[in-house]
Amino acid sequence: MKIDILTVFPEMCEDFLSRSIIGRARQRRLVDISCIDIRDFSADKHRKTDDTPYGGGMGMVMTAQPIYDAYRACAKDDKPYVVYMSPKGRVFNQNIAVDLSKKEHIVFLCGHYEGVDQRVLDEICDDEISIGDYVLTGGEIAATVVTDAVCRLLPGVLASEECYVEESHFNGLLEYPQYTHPYEWNGVKVPDVLISGHHEKIAKWRREKSLEITAKRRPDMLKNLNLSKEDKQYLEKIKTQEEHKE
Ligand code: SAM
Repeated sequence: MKIDILTVFPEMCEDFLSRSIIGRARQRRLVDISCIDIRDFSADKHRKTDDTPYGGGMGMVMTAQPIYDAYRACAKDDKPYVVYMSPKGRVFNQNIAVDLSKKEHIVFLCGHYEGVDQRVLDEICDDEISIGDYVLTGGEIAATVVTDAVCRLLPGVLASEECYVEESHFNGLLEYPQYTHPYEWNGVKVPDVLISGHHEKIAKWRREKSLEITAKRRPDMLKNLNLSKEDKQYLEKIKTQEEHKE
């Protein structure tokens, strides 16, 4: 997969995406990520990329020309899927990450200041994605978040598919609690089942804990899930236990 991030602050994305799992994936050429400076494409002699808004008002708006030319440079050999990072976009989640991980070439466009001239968005964008209902200073953090979530799903980036299929949100549930050494810390021991070596029992315990934590923290997530008879029985059981506590 190829990912191009168009930004006026390429070092913000470059720094984060050069480290840890994504940094290693880039070194191993499992993903080709370029953080491209929109200023390099400005026709202005001072490399200007913004101007005052028509209609008046505060702040600056990113101009169409450098963004369009940067996009054209990315789209020389193919037609990339272009995503504008925007608080007005559809809200990002794991399903969107899975969909994006199947694209061959994505361009993330990061806005700044008051945003981007609508005409270039209409011309080049296929999608608008928000990382949440709040406003950030620029799209760089958002593009980095989405890039990270997408790259984790690419073949070979994590040690195995197992690493992400059991993680929160992948199967519509939140993940079970994790424990590591030492066996006893601060007077608290690791749950017995996890040292039993009994894989079936461990899988059952993890499933139940996932159901429990999801029911408690994100009951909305359970509504659209295809739960098994055992899942439903377990949820019923913990609901009754909770009612008795009250
Ligand atoms: N004036 C815009 C509005 O009210 O919708 C907000 C502009 S914001 C200060 C500057 C840039 O940050 C946006 O163009 C967008 O690229 C990015 N941005 C801000 N919040 C975001 C969010 N929640 N998700 C994704 N990108 C965001």
